[in-house]
Amino acid sequence: MQNALYMDDSYLKEFEAAVVSVKDGKFVVLDRTAFFPQGGGVECDHGTMKRKSDGEEFKVVFAGKFEGSISHEVDHEGLKEGDAVHCTVDWDRRYNLMRCHTGIHVLCGVFSQEHKLLVTGNQLSTDKCRVDLNMEQLDIELVKKCFGKANEIILQDLPVEVYYKSREEAEKDPSLFKLAIGFPHDIDTLRIVDIKGFDAQADGGCHVKTLSEIGTMEFVRAENKGKQNRRVYFTVN
Ligand SMILES: [Zn+2]
Repeated sequence: MQNALYMDDSYLKEFEAAVVSVKDGKFVVLDRTAFFPQGGGVECDHGTMKRKSDGEEFKVVFAGKFEGSISHEVDHEGLKEGDAVHCTVDWDRRYNLMRCHTGIHVLCGVFSQEHKLLVTGNQLSTDKCRVDLNMEQLDIELVKKCFGKANEIILQDLPVEVYYKSREEAEKDPSLFKLAIGFPHDIDTLRIVDIKGFDAQADGGCHVKTLSEIGTMEFVRAENKGKQNRRVYFTVN
């Protein structure tokens, strides 16, 4: 994959890049990008690309991974291979998704550490966050208690660190893979998102630097979704 800048700096909002290829007029691959591509249950970034030669602006309406590259869908045709562009990530959208994403890791840590419950899926969009929980009987009181505990952990304002481990080394610690939803299994180096002193996960997403940035996690509702599966909706405020 081309240089995915968000992996090492999830606070990067603007960057310079060159167009490597354009498919069907609107699907643009850059030599480097800070746009997070949709994946692992997390929505992609939006934003803009401004061509430096004439200032023409293209809206980025979708980003996804295709054949190992991050492809950006823009709102109209015109970009050409070799164009230099100035890119801006829609930061309100991204920051919201980051807060929800780190929040899910806190919640997942509480579910698993306190109740041996596993999160088997998640969906993060700007207006809705949900996790799927492997739980035999839906126990709303217990779920609510876990949100209370998650908010206590957030108040401790633990730092969140990102680093890399070899697959071999990472596989010695199965707890790193609790949330490894859709994580590619053919790569040698794993990115670890570590809420210091609480929970570390193999993860390719964008996270806040300290837990207080999440705000407050609020339980909204839960529903049965299949035999073992309880779907839990929440917001971060
Ligand atoms: Zn994650």
